[in-house]
Amino acid sequence: MSKVEDYFNVEGKVIVITGGAGVLCSEMARSLGEAGGKIVILDLSERAMDMLSIELAEKNVEHMWIKTNVLQKNDLVIAKDEILETFGKIDILINGAGGNKPEATTSKDKSFFELPEDAVQWVFNLNFLGTFLASRVFGEYFAEKGYGEIINISSMNAFRPLTNIPAYSAAKAAVSNFTQWLAVHMNHNYSKKIRVNAIAPGFLLTNQNRFLLTNQDGSLTQRGNQILNHTPMGRFGEPKDLVSTVMWLISDSSEFVNGVVVPIDGGFSAYSGV
Ligand code: NAD
Repeated sequence: MSKVEDYFNVEGKVIVITGGAGVLCSEMARSLGEAGGKIVILDLSERAMDMLSIELAEKNVEHMWIKTNVLQKNDLVIAKDEILETFGKIDILINGAGGNKPEATTSKDKSFFELPEDAVQWVFNLNFLGTFLASRVFGEYFAEKGYGEIINISSMNAFRPLTNIPAYSAAKAAVSNFTQWLAVHMNHNYSKKIRVNAIAPGFLLTNQNRFLLTNQDGSLTQRGNQILNHTPMGRFGEPKDLVSTVMWLISDSSEFVNGVVVPIDGGFSAYSGV
């Protein structure tokens, strides 16, 4: 193997993925598993994890899954112990659990002044607190061990908020901010070999935003069209578009990259609209 290929090697690394049975993170699980990573899926949906597990087994990917709520610290601690018992170590945490919900979204029928606090809280908890808690539980282990990588999932709306989704935008801004904070904190206080980075996916057509981007008949909504018009590369992203950047961020090829939020957006965040 050439040196450059060595840089991107994830063979034998134990990669924990929260929300790992979802649309985007299951693609990471498949690809990183096929590249030789040992995959651990932590998710709420047993059914989705079971289905993914069958696929991973067919691809001979070494893996395990544990039903885990990222909002329950105790679940995370139990999962960490079980992973260590099975694989003996953990190298990488990908904080993938996140999302938005219609109740926390303004629309013609629901003004900003009527948004229910519990829906806003739900979005904040899932995206920020879920990332925060998992980073504490697995980060403490990385601090003891002296190395480890954390990847958070931010979003376009963290750079500049998108219309209609104030809670999700603010929660993802918090995730980006926390990524920088934790990168510095880990290096200052524990080890220079712990890195914390994030990806900020652009617009991928998935469960959380289908209701905003497509009509019942599958055609694009006005918002869907606006997004494509504002994306210089002229298409929505695909889950596989995220994999190569994650591979770069978790491997030695990016060993001096720390505290960054990488947009994967077809140029959306670079375009002023004029
Ligand atoms: P998804 O809904 O397909 O997957 C999310 C997964 O998280 C699901 O499997 C769900 O069961 C799990 N989950 C939910 N609550 C949980 C909890 N409390 N504990 C553990 N697991 C829980 O979402 P997705 O579209 O694949 O998004 C993955 C990540 O990427 C999210 O953080 C999302 O905000 C972010 N993101 C998505 C897009 C997009 O266009 N889809 C764009 C930018 C960022």
